[in-house]
Amino acid sequence: MRRQRISEERQREAICATARTIWERGLGAAGDGNLSVRLGGDLVLTTPSASHKGKLQPQDLVVVDLDGRVRGAGRPSSELVLHLAAYRGRPDVGAVIHAHPPHAVALQMAGVPLSELYVSELIFAFGQPATAPYTTPTTTDVGRVLGAYLRCHDVVLMPRHGSVSVGPDLDTAFLRLDALEHSARIALLARSVGQPTPIPQDEIRNLYQVAGKTPVGAGCPPYEPEDRATAATEGSDEALIAAVLQALGPRGRP
Ligand SMILES: [Zn+2]
Repeated sequence: MRRQRISEERQREAICATARTIWERGLGAAGDGNLSVRLGGDLVLTTPSASHKGKLQPQDLVVVDLDGRVRGAGRPSSELVLHLAAYRGRPDVGAVIHAHPPHAVALQMAGVPLSELYVSELIFAFGQPATAPYTTPTTTDVGRVLGAYLRCHDVVLMPRHGSVSVGPDLDTAFLRLDALEHSARIALLARSVGQPTPIPQDEIRNLYQVAGKTPVGAGCPPYEPEDRATAATEGSDEALIAAVLQALGPRGRP
């Protein structure tokens, strides 16, 4: 019992430290994103709604079960559904980070295929990022669509929104987010001075082999949406703004 308590205290401190790093590194605005770790049993520790990620304190975090019911005090983010979808679908997932990495999201919005980022190191970090179809934030579609992607992919882009990275622990989930955004920055820099080409397919296969990983197989959602142009533009600005305003409600952001 005492060991479990200490473990939860450490998890609370780790989430606060990682959240602060995400904010300081500009991987989201202060109120953006959310983090969680799986505690024992069916419990999950997560960040509260409308919280400044640079100022979180361990006691601010919220414990929920896998159905999203709060155990104790606090109000989790409406984006908790992403986290629960990952935990329900993957017993190996111990931590989930949802962030708004600006370079990766900018490339996605411009229609650049993120799975073809030109840095070989990414494959060692987690493979290739997948881009899910657009879903309106805070709706049940988010959990349904992202759940299918997270069963196969460790890093998933949400069009016009952000990223979700998962891992066996918080550090791994953060390393994957960091690798994604760093590669996106390099790709954007390369595009500002020239026309970078993707890694050839046979070298991608080689990299997977050397990294001891396997690309996702048949039956998994593809890395890129079937119609990339649609993913880049789907969801009119008006519909997106209306959905966000509705979610904000009178109490503030989700
Ligand atoms: Zn978000």
